[in-house]
Amino acid sequence: MQSFDAVVIGAGAAGLFCAGIAGQRGLKVLLIDHAQRLAEKIRISGGGRCNFTNRDAGPANFLSANPHFCRSALARYTPQDFIALVRRHRIAFHEKHKGQLFCDGSSEEIIDLLLRECDAGGVTRWQPCAVQALRRGAEAFELDTDRGPVRAASVVVATGGLSIPKIGASDFGYRVARQFGHRIVDTRPALVPLTFDAASWAPFVPLAGLSLEARIETGSGKARGEFVEDLLFTHRGLSGPAVLQISSYWQPGTPIRLDLAPTLDLEAALLAAKRVSRRKLGNELAEILPRRLAETWLAPRADWSDRPLPDLRDRDLHELAAGLQRWELVPDGTEGYRKAEVTAGGVDTRDLSSQTMESRQVRGLYFIGEVVDVTGWLGGYNFQWAWASAAACARGLPDPRGGVA
Ligand SMILES: Cc1cc2nc3c(=O)[nH]c(=O)nc-3n(C[C@H](O)[C@H](O)[C@H](O)COP(=O)(O)OP(=O)(O)OC[C@H]3O[C@@H](n4cnc5c(N)ncnc54)[C@H](O)[C@@H]3O)c2cc1C
Repeated sequence: MQSFDAVVIGAGAAGLFCAGIAGQRGLKVLLIDHAQRLAEKIRISGGGRCNFTNRDAGPANFLSANPHFCRSALARYTPQDFIALVRRHRIAFHEKHKGQLFCDGSSEEIIDLLLRECDAGGVTRWQPCAVQALRRGAEAFELDTDRGPVRAASVVVATGGLSIPKIGASDFGYRVARQFGHRIVDTRPALVPLTFDAASWAPFVPLAGLSLEARIETGSGKARGEFVEDLLFTHRGLSGPAVLQISSYWQPGTPIRLDLAPTLDLEAALLAAKRVSRRKLGNELAEILPRRLAETWLAPRADWSDRPLPDLRDRDLHELAAGLQRWELVPDGTEGYRKAEVTAGGVDTRDLSSQTMESRQVRGLYFIGEVVDVTGWLGGYNFQWAWASAAACARGLPDPRGGVA
């Protein structure tokens, strides 16, 4: 039986990063992944350019049943640490929007960086290779794999969430967690488009493809989310950054609220225009909002569009503005794991050390990355959690030869 200090299961963002750091500490590390292709999620991330971190990432950008859990790891491995690594590997990058950093070239550069870090640590990689069983023996863990049995003092589960099953996502991490007595916070698709029932969405289908800035909010109290981002109309509902962000906060059966003119007091603007102009309402509204949206919005009130502004009552303009700035609607669901960028929920943080990600139930067992109940906003935060949780774990892994992290 082959023996390692640590076996990392899952060679995605968190697993590769953890294996590299642990290997460079002098640990004998095996990294296993069942997928044919390496790090496919990094490859497709950020539209192929990998939004590898967010300059401003902090605990407030993450959802979790325990919002404090991520603090320690995020503080000890910061976006600036990863940026320094990207610079050391001479990868050119740029800031796109709100602190989001992307490669100038392609995501492959981040995969190459992680592979070089693994090589520097002498990490053994087995891929494709599945793990059939994991047991805790008297002295160490024993794993049954496609390439035979393996023994290791530490096992790191880095198998990610459930989103995009066709590129290798599996529930392995949650199954291992349950096997060893861990609790799981209910999982659900997040950073995902929202859908509406066909009949109620029919009037908005002609808007498919239209994008505009909107304020979006849902929930209340501590569970409230609010973002000002671009919104995209689709044939089945709503998407775009605004909706992906709010989907992580949205609870089935509850409404989302939209302001389609977030930089304006629409009622005041329409009343002011009414005092000085005899323009038709349809034309006035099309100056403020995209014409397609203005026409679709006024379609149920056919006679309004062609009426000069002074012919409309103040109360009509109030009602129109309120509809557009306080549009409340209840999604009937999401596009599911097929389209979700991440999985919210996961291995309950109450059963993990926030310093090392080690299980409080079983010594030597660790969970890192997306499999843990820590979910970032859209914009590089999820990779920052992968790097930070991986670093915390890699530095905390025991070194049988007594090396210091
Ligand atoms: C389309 C898309 C775009 C994204 N873009 C961004 C972005 O630009 N910025 C950002 O911050 N985040 C982005 N994300 C989210 C980000 O990719 C994930 O949060 C991140 O990859 C999680 O890292 P991880 O290592 O925990 O899991 P993953 O990267 O998902 O890695 C898990 C690995 O485990 C392997 N695995 C699973 N089950 C098993 C098993 N049973 N045995 C062995 N191996 C197994 C998988 O094959 C995979 O290689 C995006 C996600 C998607 C889907």
